[in-house]
Amino acid sequence: KVNRLFHPEDTLISVKNETIGGNRFTIIAGPCSVESEEQIVSIAEEINEAGASFLRGGAFKPRTSPYSFQGLREEGLELLKIAREKTGLPIVTEIMSVDYVEKFVEDVDIIQIGARNMQNFDLLKEVGKTDKPILLKRGMSATIEELLMAAEYIMSEGNENIILCERGIRTFENYTRNTLDLSAIPVIKKLSHLPVIVDPSHAAGLWWLVEPLAKAAVAVGADGLMIEVHNDPANAKCDGQQSIKPERFKSLIKSIKKIADIE
Ligand code: PEP
Ligand code: MN
Repeated sequence: KVNRLFHPEDTLISVKNETIGGNRFTIIAGPCSVESEEQIVSIAEEINEAGASFLRGGAFKPRTSPYSFQGLREEGLELLKIAREKTGLPIVTEIMSVDYVEKFVEDVDIIQIGARNMQNFDLLKEVGKTDKPILLKRGMSATIEELLMAAEYIMSEGNENIILCERGIRTFENYTRNTLDLSAIPVIKKLSHLPVIVDPSHAAGLWWLVEPLAKAAVAVGADGLMIEVHNDPANAKCDGQQSIKPERFKSLIKSIKKIADIE
């Protein structure tokens, strides 16, 4: 069960040599989408050097328009595997269809369920039948209760390795892409034993807001961050306006290290 009543201690999730939750602060970083071998490998090397512990990158992309870049799909997964091989960083990537569950279990280290699929109950149940760690992002119009119930769907099939992610919600404010719901982090930690990370990139939609929101996430007790990093944001195939360059990511990590316990 997701509720803390059934599990008073914080859940720790082990992935390869990493532990998510507890006293550790986990940083996941990488581009919105995998675009080429050169792109993903060079970003992976830079974030690794900066101190990130997971590489993210979308291969299957849930885009608003069907005419936007949809991701490199299977080829993207292969390129993520090459980047993992070269850096040792475990990989996190989004699944969009139940048809790919077996392949993702084989190929990736953490399976991401995106905001748009948070209530895709068949997909939740299918990943629930595996023992792969699942990164479950809050739907853009989902309440905290609905997020926790989505996690319950995964858990009800047996998989208890779930990391929750606050990534901003829709409000009347439109200066930012979404509104980062900072109160969700302490609320979720009160209600549940699952680790909670924050994605300031999709919340803000603006690269210069990523660092202040990342610091705020640390202050409210998040277990980690997921940050979009791109070597050439101006020409990124997806979400360039909210992506920071590797240099800025390095300085962000330095300032975060002063306030969070990062190994
Ligand atoms: C992503 O992480 O690339 C993504 C699509 O995020 P979200 O599902 O939160 O919109
Ligand atoms: Mn993105």
